[in-house]
Amino acid sequence: MIRINDIIDRAVDVNPDADIDIINRAYIYSARVHQGQMRLSGEPYLSHPLEVAKILADMNLDSTSIAAGLLHDVIEDAEATRVTPEDLKSMFGKEVAHIVSGVTKLSVLPFSSAQARQAESIRKMILAMADDIRVILIKLADRLHNMRTLQYHKSAKRKEIAQETLDIYAPIAGRLGIYWVKKELEDIAFMNLNYGEYSKILSRLNKGRQESEKYIETVKTLIQKKMEASQLKCEVLGRYKHIYSVYQKMISQNLSFEEIYDVIAFRIILSTIPQCYEALGILHSMWKPIAAKFKDYIAVPKPNMYQSLHTTVIGPYGERVEIQIRTWEMDKVAKSGIAAHWGYKEGKKMDETILKRFSWIQNLVENQENFRDPSEFLENVRIDLFPDEIYVFTPRGEIKSLPKGATPIDFAYLIHTEVGNQCTGAKIDGRMVSLKHELKTGNIVEIITTKGHHPSKDWLNYTKTVKARTKIRQWIKAQEKERSLSLGREMCEKAFRKHRLNFSERSKSPAMETVVGEFGLKSLEDLIASVGYGKITPLQVVRKFLPKPEAEEEALLTKGVEKRERKKTKEGVIVKGVDDILVRFAKCCRPVRGDAVTGYITRGYGVTIHRTQCINALKMNPERQIEVEWAPETIETFPVKIRVRALDRVGLLADLAANISKNAANILSARSENRSDDETVTSFFTISVENTTHLDRVLADIRRIKNVQEVVRIGR
Ligand code: MN
Repeated sequence: MIRINDIIDRAVDVNPDADIDIINRAYIYSARVHQGQMRLSGEPYLSHPLEVAKILADMNLDSTSIAAGLLHDVIEDAEATRVTPEDLKSMFGKEVAHIVSGVTKLSVLPFSSAQARQAESIRKMILAMADDIRVILIKLADRLHNMRTLQYHKSAKRKEIAQETLDIYAPIAGRLGIYWVKKELEDIAFMNLNYGEYSKILSRLNKGRQESEKYIETVKTLIQKKMEASQLKCEVLGRYKHIYSVYQKMISQNLSFEEIYDVIAFRIILSTIPQCYEALGILHSMWKPIAAKFKDYIAVPKPNMYQSLHTTVIGPYGERVEIQIRTWEMDKVAKSGIAAHWGYKEGKKMDETILKRFSWIQNLVENQENFRDPSEFLENVRIDLFPDEIYVFTPRGEIKSLPKGATPIDFAYLIHTEVGNQCTGAKIDGRMVSLKHELKTGNIVEIITTKGHHPSKDWLNYTKTVKARTKIRQWIKAQEKERSLSLGREMCEKAFRKHRLNFSERSKSPAMETVVGEFGLKSLEDLIASVGYGKITPLQVVRKFLPKPEAEEEALLTKGVEKRERKKTKEGVIVKGVDDILVRFAKCCRPVRGDAVTGYITRGYGVTIHRTQCINALKMNPERQIEVEWAPETIETFPVKIRVRALDRVGLLADLAANISKNAANILSARSENRSDDETVTSFFTISVENTTHLDRVLADIRRIKNVQEVVRIGR
């Protein structure tokens, strides 16, 4: 079993100021709580957290990470260990407790096998749930050690874990740029999933090993000599590619092992970037490069900040040789990825430049947009890769992605429209919640439906997805149509009854079909709904079924529908579209030619003309309103009431009367009221005028009379 001192040595190597105390305390605590527990291998359980901590130390992580690594399983096994996050917080501080809780959360996710098709969702979910990147790094170290000790599991379990590793964890390690972890995870997983192919490739690699070693030596020496001749100090490394990558190459390019020449790759490491390009030039002068294979990841780094020059050349024996050229700094990044960047500054926040370099985390996962300000989410090395998305489980373990802020209603509609329409409640992680409850990544969501239950309008306030909103609106609309149909039917039946007609009987008649067409509608249902919505009055419908004379009166209700010749009535008003109709002028507002007027149909009395702003007219049923206009050229006069207020004086009334007469307006009646308190007199006249211009002239003239204070037309 690895010793804690090896881990501490490594931590101090990386950083002389490392917090040894917290590592020691975590070790002692972990040893105590795991006491008596065994690994499947028969080793004491403690060996596992120790190995994990060693891997973390090898990643050059800080002492907080190493301590958290030592403690990473104490909460998960809480039944045995009886440790709570609060315990960890009080003993090791907020950070350690937070990280261990995060690792535990990931461990208890209900991932099952046969979920390869949702692998991408799971990867995103894991990255989304780990709000501190160290949570993922510990999870990776944990998985790596579990893979190293996979042989103690039964075959079926081995395959399950291996597949999950290949689908989920190896790609995450790759995205974080920790290639050595990715390679080891892949090779162990491959060995367990496809031992036949694995051992075939391995034995072939081994068979030619002696020859290969010689080959590596030859190529290394050739490169080294050329570089030295140009005063380039460098290190040349030759290495075997990992088995899974050889296998992948065979699969993807449909090659046999014999056709795969480049199972060995070379790396040249130098001090500066200019040296890298210089070395590239020398290399290309030695051996012919394959142009299509050249990649400049120094000028254009990979999203995870990997930098190198990649070239493939035709080597000394006519074989293809893959060569990477990079600086020592780049080599460090390539080896440990994100982990290369911290640990140096124990207990301190990362400085601005390093934080900036971390912005590549944004691009870790494809198809991600709408990131927040990178410096904001990288604060305290926290990550929030998917600020706008959450990932939740169905009770069967399927992962569903929803926008942030989504509720059980959104989830229900995502499952099925009927589930949405009939949902009455939700359980999250087995506990009842309200439908307004905001879902969080990792939740297991179960929807409770009740047959015959309906969506409600206010659900629109608690939904984030387009699908849910659309479906809810659709339902409401259908509901409204339903309502207007029954309302419309009721109104029609009533109106028909009033005229001793049977609506439902008429509905079936061919005449109704014609009527529907006359309204420009497609079906009787549309007609009834239009009545319900108030677009058509029931009277308009009834009229179509009335005998001629009776219909005539009602016909007036349809304004200007029938285009007939306008005819002047003797009253001087044209009722649009109607001949020979009795017209009366309303007594309340006494319209005068030139006034804006509106007609109202009075049953049995023809049309009554009101001034448009007349209060009585405004109170009338708009259904009865009909458009009218003044007929041109007439000689008749209109009675109008006026009121004149003036300071009383001798001869005032006579002056008023004379003035009105002078303007050729006939006085029909006159009345005066005296007020003793302020010595004013108010006179009312009904005069006849030809039109509003005539009236205006009369009023203007009265205003000029001495002592007159106010002259107004009255009547509404
Ligand atoms: Mn573990």
